[in-house]
Amino acid sequence: MPICPNCGTWNPDDKRVCWRCGTPLPKPQPKKRRKPIMLWGMPLWTWVVLALMTIVLLAGQCGLMQTMPH
Ligand SMILES: [Zn+2]
Repeated sequence: MPICPNCGTWNPDDKRVCWRCGTPLPKPQPKKRRKPIMLWGMPLWTWVVLALMTIVLLAGQCGLMQTMPH
C-alpha cells in the first residue's frame, strides 16, 4: 500500500499514480530477506545446530558412561 510522497494519501497496491494528485508512486518494495551469515559455505545456524547436536551427543555419551553398570 504505497503512500503518496507528495500528498501523503494512501493508495491501493495496484495504483501506479496517486489517485488524489496524480503523482507517480514509488514501487512497493518487496520485503528484503535477511541474508544468512555464511561460514565456510554453510549458513551460521547450521553450525549452531551442529554444535548443539555435538554437545547433546557428547553429553549423552558422558551420561551413558556414568550410568553404565560396572
Ligand atoms: Zn498524492
